[in-house]
This record gives sequence, structure tokens and C-alpha cells, in this order.
Amino acid sequence: MNRTVHLSPPDVGPLEESYLLAALRSGWVAPVGPDLEAFEREVAERVGTRGAVAVSSGTAALHLALLGVGVGPGQIVLVPTLTFVATANAVVYTGARPVFVDCDPRNGNVDVALVAEALHRLRAENERVGAVVPVDMFGTCVDYTALLPVCAEAGVPVVEDAAEALGATHRGRPAGSFGRVGALSFNGNKIITTSGGGMLVSDDTALLAHARHLATQAREPVPHYEHRHIGYNYRLSNLLAALGRAQLVRLDAMIARRRVLRDRYAKLFAPVPGVRLLGDEDGTGNCWLTSIVVDPGQAGWRAADLGTHLAGHGIETRPVWKPMHRQPVFAGARGFLTGAAERLFANGLTLPSGSALDDMQVDRVLAAVEEFVTAHTGATAA
Ligand SMILES: *Cc1c(COP(=O)(O)O)cnc(C)c1O
Repeated sequence: MNRTVHLSPPDVGPLEESYLLAALRSGWVAPVGPDLEAFEREVAERVGTRGAVAVSSGTAALHLALLGVGVGPGQIVLVPTLTFVATANAVVYTGARPVFVDCDPRNGNVDVALVAEALHRLRAENERVGAVVPVDMFGTCVDYTALLPVCAEAGVPVVEDAAEALGATHRGRPAGSFGRVGALSFNGNKIITTSGGGMLVSDDTALLAHARHLATQAREPVPHYEHRHIGYNYRLSNLLAALGRAQLVRLDAMIARRRVLRDRYAKLFAPVPGVRLLGDEDGTGNCWLTSIVVDPGQAGWRAADLGTHLAGHGIETRPVWKPMHRQPVFAGARGFLTGAAERLFANGLTLPSGSALDDMQVDRVLAAVEEFVTAHTGATAA
């Protein structure tokens, strides 16, 4: 029996083993150590920011990033409705309220015109907007050329949720570098992993220093455990940073591998009516996840039907994120909505995209997709 093909499994091997073992043998097991500092330096260099702070998750990075730009109780934060729940949860942790904004149907990224409208309306109502949190959905950067001036004009700081986007760019500039501060994730399913981890990246070294302080229980630098702020136990361990350093060495190769998969899906679906790939319109994404969007009227089948077919072949797929304004936990939250995220949720399907998938697994996925497409539309690539 063939093993299940997963969506985006961790891609680790001998290099990760050697880095991790070296860290273990160095004696720098916990909490901090030279690999932690080196990992921060190397990621900051890659993203093009002056500094970085490594933490235990992307969610923790978002939380500290929001605190860092002064978000707190009584404020509103604009969050895309099409995202992973952590983006909205981090806002709630600060005591602020998320207000959801719908997306651009081409790539699922936040609808910039709607952000402008929301900022305008909320200002007219005397609401305090503490931040805008664009999410680089599935590894495609938001159109920052359009978004940043809109936020700057309203005087609202941008916190970039680049959890999915390390290695992607917009007009040559790396994901993570666009806001006052950015948040990365190294969760097990992300483009690189520390098994669990995250990072704040920013040019604002004072913001980063304060985030580092809050991440270590806000311990004042005295021996007797003095505290002036409520802190958190959010720091990444030195061992996991070592794992991250090995992954970072392989980042470009892993992105290249994901792009090979994406290109094969693109070729297979090109002649299929009513099907398109989501995002990465100009080829500058990191191909973290490849999703298709199916117009059931044109295609004659639904995205979910293909998902069921692939499940029968031991192949994992997922719908695109369920919009936050449809989540029971955010029932009653305000939204600036067009229906675009709802349609992507109804018609999108995320396909196995991981760099750890070997050629045989990829062939198996493509054969199963082709079998379905042939049976349901009669139009195939070969
Ligand atoms: C994964 C993810 C997060 C959270 O990262 P964790 O490391 O899992 O806490 C936040 N935002 C988005 C968009 C994500 O995809």
C-alpha cells in the first residue's frame, strides 16, 4: 500500500542532522546560544532588514509585532478575512478587535481598494485603527506598491504577516521587509521549519529590542528577577535555531523544487476549461502552496470532487482557508466584504506542494489528477 502523500511535509535530511547534532554537542542546548544569534542575523540578511528576533512560533511573532507598533485595547486592526486564524487571534491577544477585509480573487491577497475604503470609513466613525496586517497568501506578496501609500496616508502602521512567504519578493524586495515589522513562521508545514518557530524582522531596532525583552519574560538585566512589563516565554531555543540555519541554506533549492511541482500542475491544467492556478501571477512567489480555483459551471466538476477523488488515492488536499468572518469564533465581527473570499473557499483546492515530495510521489499525484480530469472533462494535457 502506498503511503499518504501530504500537502507540505517537513523537508529535512543530513544537513539538518549535522547542524542539530553540532549544536547539541556544543553544549548550547538551552535557552539561547550562538546558533540563535546567527539564525537571526542570517534571516535578517535574507529578508533585508536591520535585525530580527527569533521566537517560538509565527503566532508569537505576530503578537509581539502588534504590541511593538502599539496595538492594544480599544483599537481596531484590519486583517484579511482570507487567512489562517493566527493572524486574527494575535490581534485579540493584544485586546484590540480584528475587522476583516475581503480579498483580490486573483491571488487571495487583501483587496487594497477595500483597505482604503475601510480606513476612510473607520476614520469617519472616529474609530482608532492600530495597524493593517496584510498576509502574503500562500507565498505570493501583497501588492505593496499599492498598499503602502494607502496605509501611510492614513498614518496606520503595517505589520506584514509573511508567515508563508519567506523567499518571495515584490518588485525585487523580499517578503517580510514591507511593514514597520514583519512576522515569519517556521512551523512544520512552512517553507522552512524549525519544527516550530517564528521570527520578527524589522529595521526598527528599538522595536526589536523591546520584542526580545518581552519574549524573555520581560526580565530586567539584574540578577534578582526584576520585571516592569508583562512578558512572555516566547524565545526560540538554540537547538531549533540550528535546525533553522540548515533549512535556510537549502531555502532556494526548496523553493525551486516547489516551483517544479507548480509548473507541472500549471501544464496539466492549462488545457482544462474553468481551472486556474491561484496567485504567483508574475512568478515571484515562493510557491509555498499551489491551489487551483475551479469554476464549476465551465469545468463541469467541483474542486471538492477532485479532493474526494485524490483522497481515495491516499493524496491529501485542502480547501483554501475558510474566511475569518465565517468562523464561529469571530461571529459578529465587522467586515468589509465582497464575497471574493467566500468564492475562493467554495471553489479552491490546495494540492500537494512540498519540496520533500519525491518524483514518484509527484508522478502519482499528477496521474491521479489526470485520471479525474480525463473522466470529467475529456480535456487533458497529454
Ligand atoms: C502559519 C501561519 C501563521 C502562524 O504561524 P505558527 O508558526 O504556526 O504560529 C500565521 N499566519 C499565517 C498566514 C500562517 O500561515
